[in-house]
Amino acid sequence: MTFQALALVVQKLEGTPSRNTMTEILADLFSNSKESEIGEICYLLQGRVAPLYEAIEFGVADKLMIRAIALAYDEDESHVTTLFKKYGDLGIAAEEIAKTHQKQETTISVHDVFLKLKAIAELGGAGSQEQKVQTLSNLLSSSHSLAVRFLVRIPLDKLRLGFSDMTMIDALSFMLTKDKSNRDAIEAAYDVRPDLGYIATKLKIHGMAGISHVEARVGAPILAALCQRLPNAEEMIKKMGNVDVEPKYDGVRTQIHFQKTKDGVTVSSYSRNLENTTAMYPELKKIAGQIHAESVILDSEAVGYDEKTHRIIPFQETMTRKRKHNIVGATQSVPLRFFVFDILSKNGKDLMGTPLSKRRELLEETITKGPILSVSPHIVTDDIATLRTYHTEQIEKGLEGVVVKKWEGMYEPGRRGFTWVKFKEENKVGKLADTIDAVVMGYYKGEGKRTDFGIGAFLVGVKKGETFVTMTKIGTGVSDELWKEMKTAFNRESSKEKPKTYADVDKIFLPDVWVSPAIVVEIAADDITKSPSHGAKFALRFPRLVRIRTDKNANQVTTVGELEVMYHNQESVKS
Ligand code: ATP
Repeated sequence: MTFQALALVVQKLEGTPSRNTMTEILADLFSNSKESEIGEICYLLQGRVAPLYEAIEFGVADKLMIRAIALAYDEDESHVTTLFKKYGDLGIAAEEIAKTHQKQETTISVHDVFLKLKAIAELGGAGSQEQKVQTLSNLLSSSHSLAVRFLVRIPLDKLRLGFSDMTMIDALSFMLTKDKSNRDAIEAAYDVRPDLGYIATKLKIHGMAGISHVEARVGAPILAALCQRLPNAEEMIKKMGNVDVEPKYDGVRTQIHFQKTKDGVTVSSYSRNLENTTAMYPELKKIAGQIHAESVILDSEAVGYDEKTHRIIPFQETMTRKRKHNIVGATQSVPLRFFVFDILSKNGKDLMGTPLSKRRELLEETITKGPILSVSPHIVTDDIATLRTYHTEQIEKGLEGVVVKKWEGMYEPGRRGFTWVKFKEENKVGKLADTIDAVVMGYYKGEGKRTDFGIGAFLVGVKKGETFVTMTKIGTGVSDELWKEMKTAFNRESSKEKPKTYADVDKIFLPDVWVSPAIVVEIAADDITKSPSHGAKFALRFPRLVRIRTDKNANQVTTVGELEVMYHNQESVKS
C-alpha cells in the first residue's frame, strides 16, 4: 500500500465524527492491507512505530520539525513559523507549503515510511538532531501534500484520530466476519498482549486461531487487573466468600518483568497505562538477588519508603520529592519499595489461570526478603469482623484501606470484575468514600486572583461507552502549585474544536477553551447528586481536585456505570 493511499484513509477518518463509520473505514483498510503491512498500519494509526509499551519516542519538537519543513521545500524557517501561527498546526502549515511545491505523484510505500520514521525514533547521541532533520526533510519532499500533513503530525505526537484501541478491535472483527462477533475474543487476547500490531498480523495470517493462545511474555505488559466497589464488608463476604485481604498502598501500580540472560538480567517495568517506566526506577536493576526464578512477571505497587522509621511516604510527597530531584537523586532522597502482590508468570509459565491461593504460594517461594521488593502482607478470611478489623488497622497505619480478592480467583487482566474489590474508608453520609478519576474537557478563563493563571475553572467528564460526558465544573479547592501544573498541561492539550469523542455539552457548561482528552484528574467530593444538565446525568457536590493522574489515560477514567454503583452505595448508607 502506498503511504498516499493510507493518508487518504486517515483523512476520511479525521472527517467523520461517527464511531460506526470509523469502524467501517478501518475495517476496509484492514481488509485491503497485506499480511506484511497490517501491523505497521496499526502502529502508524496510533501515531507510533512500535506498541505503546516499547520505550521508543520520536524526540521531535516543533522547532526541529520547522527546520525539516524549511529544508524540504527550501523555505525560510520564519515563513514556516508564520504559517504555523496562522493554522495552529504544523501538519497543515507543511501541507500548505507542500501544495505549492508539488513535483510529481509519489509512490512511497507504508513500509518505507514506517522504516524511516522508526529510524528517526531510534536516532540518538551526538549529531542525531541534524540526522533527524535530514531524514524528515527527505521524507517530506518525497511525499504528496496530504501525506505531508500526517507525516508531520506523527513524530510530533499530534496524530489524534479520535478513536480508541477498542474501535480498532471492532474493525479487526469486521475484517474477519463483517460483524462484531469476534470482539470479546480479540479483546481478551489484547488484555494479555496489548499490541495491536501483533494481534492484527496474527488475525490476518491465521484468522481467530492466530490469537487463541496468547500468553504472558516477559517484555510485553499485561493489562492490570482492576477493582470493583461494594458498599461494605458484609456485601464483600456475601459476594466473594473466602477472601485474601491486603493493604491498599497509595503509590504507583508497577508491573515488573524480570529475565535472567547469558550476560546478566534484563528488568523492565510498566505503568497501568502500559507505558514503559524502566528508566524511572533504576533501583529495579538490583532485584536479581531477591528473585529465585529464571524469569517472572510481578504485579506491585511502588511507594516511597522511609528505611529508618519503616514508614510509607504518602504518594503526594513521593511525587513532589521525585519532581524536585533528578531520577537518580530521587532514588537516594525517596527510596522506593515495591510491594509485590501477584505473580503472573514464572519461568515462562503463564499463571493467570491459576487461582490466587496457588499464585500467592508461588510468590512467597520466589521472592526473598530484601531492600527493594517486599511481598505484601495479607490475611485470608471469610469473616466480616476479621475483615473489618484488618481494614481499620490499615487505615490507622495511614494506608488507603484494603484490597479484597477472591482467594480462589484467577488473575483477570484489564477487568473490573468482582474478583478484586477495593475497600477504602467506609461510606459515610456527606463524604464520598472514593475519589473519581475524570478527564479534563475544557476550561473557563479566569477572573480575580486566578487571572494570573488564565484559568478560572475547568470542566471534567467521565466515560460513557466510547464517549466522554460532562460531570462537574471545578473552580475551587485547587492549590496555586496545582493551578500552575494544570495551566501547562492545558496549554499543551488545548484544542480549537470540541474533540470528537465528547458527547454534546449543555450550553451552560460550554468551556472557553476545549482540551483534548488527555489529562486525567482525581477528584474528591462530598456527594454524588443526580443532574439533568450534565451528560453523565450525575454531578458532584463540592468537588475538589486531589491531583493530576499522570499514570492514567483518558480511557481509564471512571465510567458512568461506576458512578451509578457509587451513587447506589452512597444512598444505601443514607437509608
Ligand atoms: P485509586 O484511585 O483508589 O488509587 P484506582 O482508580 O487507581 O484506585 P482501582 O482499580 O480502583 O484503581 O484500585 C486498584 C489500584 O490500587 C491498583 O491499580 C493499584 O495501583 C492500587 N493497589 C494498592 N495496593 C494494592 C494491592 N494490594 N492489590 C492491588 N492493587 C493495589
